[in-house]
Amino acid sequence: MIIILKQNAEQRAIKALCEELKSQGLSIHESVGEATHILGLIGDTTSIAESWLRASPVVEDVRRVSEPYKKANRKFHPEDTVVTVGGTRIGGGNFAVIAGPCSVESKAQITQVAESVQAAGASLLRGGAFKPRTSPYSFQGMRAEGLELLREARQATGMPIVTEIMNTEHLPLFGDVDLIQVGARNMQNFELLKAVGQSGKPVLLKRGLSATLEELVMSAEYIMAEGNEQVILCERGIRTFENSMRNTLDISAVPMLKKMTHLPVVIDPSHAAGIAWMGEPLAQAAVAAGADGLMIEVHNDPAHAKCDGAQSLTPDQFAVLMGKIGPEAVFFGKTLN
Ligand code: PEP
Ligand code: MN
Repeated sequence: MIIILKQNAEQRAIKALCEELKSQGLSIHESVGEATHILGLIGDTTSIAESWLRASPVVEDVRRVSEPYKKANRKFHPEDTVVTVGGTRIGGGNFAVIAGPCSVESKAQITQVAESVQAAGASLLRGGAFKPRTSPYSFQGMRAEGLELLREARQATGMPIVTEIMNTEHLPLFGDVDLIQVGARNMQNFELLKAVGQSGKPVLLKRGLSATLEELVMSAEYIMAEGNEQVILCERGIRTFENSMRNTLDISAVPMLKKMTHLPVVIDPSHAAGIAWMGEPLAQAAVAAGADGLMIEVHNDPAHAKCDGAQSLTPDQFAVLMGKIGPEAVFFGKTLN
């Protein structure tokens, strides 16, 4: 971190600032030019708040030269992290597909979808039990009963289950969930991030609707700072000026996140576009961009889905998509799990 001091800053105040920084374990490299006076901070500056420095009367500007995330940073961990979810590996060359309905609606629905997506090659079953809906009048999910139906679908198929948590108080209900999803709307619910970090369970962290990639990685850092390194990042479309689709898939997030971090990155084309037929081309783009997996919404009867029907593929459409994605993932050097 570099601090540019104000011209004519009072020597006494500069000295006091330096002492304070040193007391926080940092060394200081001072460089005094004709018109500039710069302090280079050496050491771990992750806990130094820029806003605190900017509040000092002697500070003109502050620049970070290293990233504020350590545990997620590829620089300190060059190898890809492989996250294992109930026996399925994601990351480090392992490609996995998560599929299932937006929300669990009945035993027949979730079991039927589970069996069909498994037959088509998906390895993890998704289904929302607690649903974050924009309107309080929309279907809110089957809640604890939905979790029970997911467990029964796992029992029937052997597929690990993925479902969203919205609230720290619900964590005890998620004890046997294989992969806990933190949704876009909760990406910066820091108490929830800490709690899922402490749970030690694999976490699927979705990017917020208008979050930068650094904000997403900082949220992963919250989970990892609790000692839980099993984090999968998910790009699910961001808000832009374009309105012909629900969101805009930020495909460049894949190579950039993989450069920034060692964590697996999956793409959710369903929420990105909000249109079922676009699932396939976006999934193919994700594979080509280097994603480690996909999360796709599939419903046995999209026209009557209680949530996100327009973006849900039928089991037959999903099977067609998988027929293309499988060989493409292999072509791009991945092992399909
Ligand atoms: C979901 O996966 O069904 C969901 C609500 O996703 P997001 O948080 O990305 O909107
Ligand atoms: Mn959905």
